[in-house]
Amino acid sequence: MSDLPIPRPRRRALLSGAFALGAGAVLGTALPGTAGAAAGAALAGPVISGCVAWGAREPSSPVKLLATGPQKIIVHHTATPNSTDYSQAHAFGLSRSIQNDHMDARGWIDSGQHFTISRGGWITEGRHSSAAALAAGVQQVESAHCTGQNTVAVGIENEGTYTSVDPRSAQYAKLVDLCAYICSQYGLRAYQIFGHRDFNNTECPGDRLYALLPQLRADVAARIGGSPEWGGWPVARLGDSGERIRSLQYLLASRGASIVADGSFGPATESAVRAFQTTNRAGVDGVAGNQTWHQLAHPLARGTQGDAVKALQGQLVARGQTLVVDGSFGPGTEAGVRAFQTSAGLPADGVADARTWSRLLA
Ligand SMILES: [Zn+2]
Repeated sequence: MSDLPIPRPRRRALLSGAFALGAGAVLGTALPGTAGAAAGAALAGPVISGCVAWGAREPSSPVKLLATGPQKIIVHHTATPNSTDYSQAHAFGLSRSIQNDHMDARGWIDSGQHFTISRGGWITEGRHSSAAALAAGVQQVESAHCTGQNTVAVGIENEGTYTSVDPRSAQYAKLVDLCAYICSQYGLRAYQIFGHRDFNNTECPGDRLYALLPQLRADVAARIGGSPEWGGWPVARLGDSGERIRSLQYLLASRGASIVADGSFGPATESAVRAFQTTNRAGVDGVAGNQTWHQLAHPLARGTQGDAVKALQGQLVARGQTLVVDGSFGPGTEAGVRAFQTSAGLPADGVADARTWSRLLA
């Protein structure tokens, strides 16, 4: 079998934003996250050479198809040499080499990433079934490319080392194509494209490729619509207090920390932050900054429950809304999110994603 062409999107493109959200919540099939962002923006996908084409080994155990699609895209570099062999044969050899490393040296079941882009601009499938899942646009394959994000993020490896040079333009162009297609298929927005270092304590994807991410978001937004700007995260540390700290505590509790949401960043909160950072391979400093918030702030939509919803509800109440902080994301919370989004100049989709969280916590 040769290259696997990606069919045009089907059902996702037929669902308009609000309907897609409602259906996902009622059926419980998918945390819709950001569905509907690119409604109607069906794009033809780039050619992705599947595992059979490049001669992948079989996974050591079956890959897991998750119930939901991704909430974001994470960009990596392979930290391999900046090869001047731009052939497809080289791209295929690279994919085999990465798979061997991931299976033999790291003990993973298959390649960790979903997709790889060579310096010659050839796109290959990484983990088996990633391309078929993307083509269907509903689910994704569990991966191993970013600790803390492997069930919620598509991982793209870019061949090369981009600490002091930029990727080749042919490679970057394919990265734009692939990201735009992923966004279109899964209803993601351009601002939901991040770098590995936004989550884990790593240099990846290199200073230069990381510095290109705002441009990448803008180039993807030009294809699929919407704003590429998402905001940023505050810094919270020992001695701070207020609703932002209460939110942090609820979010930590939602991830298993034994902590009281009292709105005061004391030693217990600091140690919970450190534990969370350790578990998620973020830089461990006890200060909640970029990586910590990125790891904590999963999208919340109608139908979700728990302490993370309490964080959201608490923020809405602190802004004067009348809500019960009960940890249950029902119609009232959804209306509250929409009202907040409107006041913040954001699209009122009722989903608390990273951009909405960043405005709430600012
Ligand atoms: Zn990486």
